[in-house]
Amino acid sequence: MVLKPPLPLFMDDVVRLRKPHPCGSYEWVVVRLGADIGLKCRTCGRRVLLPRRTVEKRLKEFVSRGSDATAEPTAPGLPQVQDQGPDQ
Ligand SMILES: [Zn+2]
Repeated sequence: MVLKPPLPLFMDDVVRLRKPHPCGSYEWVVVRLGADIGLKCRTCGRRVLLPRRTVEKRLKEFVSRGSDATAEPTAPGLPQVQDQGPDQ
């Protein structure tokens, strides 16, 4: 068993799930965060609430990240980016 860190989910993230919605779409937009994750179908606009664990299990990939993902000042577990590039 490999322990995975909690999946970082942000508002407006677009995710692709393993199983399609009945309308045929695989892509969902994150519209609510919390113990339950609110997802809105990109094709038919239907909203669902899924437990975070279920979302993590069904998630296949991120299609795009919401603005909050990049606005996060210090993501936990990630080292601060320090520019130590080659000398100029
Ligand atoms: Zn749908």
